[in-house]
Amino acid sequence: MTPEMAMIALSFLFGLVIGSFLNVVSHRVPVGASLLDPSHCPRCEAPIRPWQNIPVLSWLALRGKCAACRQPISVRYPLVELTTGVLFASIAWLLPWQQLAPNTAAAICILLAYWWFAGSSVALTLIDLDTKRLPDVIVLPGYAVGVGLLTLACLLGADWWALLRAGIGAAVLFGVYALLWLARPGAMGAGDVKLAGLVGLHLGWLGWAAVAVGAIAAFILGGLYGVGLLAARRAGRKTALAFGPWMIAGAWTGALAGTAIAQFYLGISGLV
Ligand SMILES: [Zn+2]
Repeated sequence: MTPEMAMIALSFLFGLVIGSFLNVVSHRVPVGASLLDPSHCPRCEAPIRPWQNIPVLSWLALRGKCAACRQPISVRYPLVELTTGVLFASIAWLLPWQQLAPNTAAAICILLAYWWFAGSSVALTLIDLDTKRLPDVIVLPGYAVGVGLLTLACLLGADWWALLRAGIGAAVLFGVYALLWLARPGAMGAGDVKLAGLVGLHLGWLGWAAVAVGAIAAFILGGLYGVGLLAARRAGRKTALAFGPWMIAGAWTGALAGTAIAQFYLGISGLV
């Protein structure tokens, strides 16, 4: 196994563990419950023992049932763990975190910044789908952690231009969503505007292609989903759809594949 493969495998395992924590975050943050209390079965309140808390494997070993009351445990738990694992591994594999840094210390700062953004993305997607809200308590620390770690990367030798670009990306996406919010207050929430700045920050650091692809992909993905719902008559024209998950799906499309997609598009349109 090459060091790169080992790094991707370790990132996947780390993501599984973080995903397990994000399950807790997504259930407890909307109701204001403590993140530090020990886990228990949501149906019978039986405490979850450590061996029952191993990501994915415990759910499989227990065949999706609580060990105490045998009531089903949602497949959402292992799916969130797997998704986070795949996202963390994809970041280690596809994101140019090493190319953007002159040394290992700066590279680790960049990797941590995007892992934090990935964890926030998973939690915000779940909470927005459940409650149509994007809690400030997750979005706002994302700015502090992102700006802090990326500034630290610059102090350790990374390109200051990337940090300026991140600031411009944040301002542009925040501004675009603020205009949409002002133009049609029902279609967007203030939470979407604050999330847009966070998305712009992390895409801006990676480059303009990531910003453009990430922003456009959000509207394409969200639009297709909305059209699909209308076609299936599951939603009326006035139904408010949670847009956060689509902004986040677009963001990761832009972050992980933005440069490749932009080159492909410019290629087939004959612009380069
Ligand atoms: Zn139970």
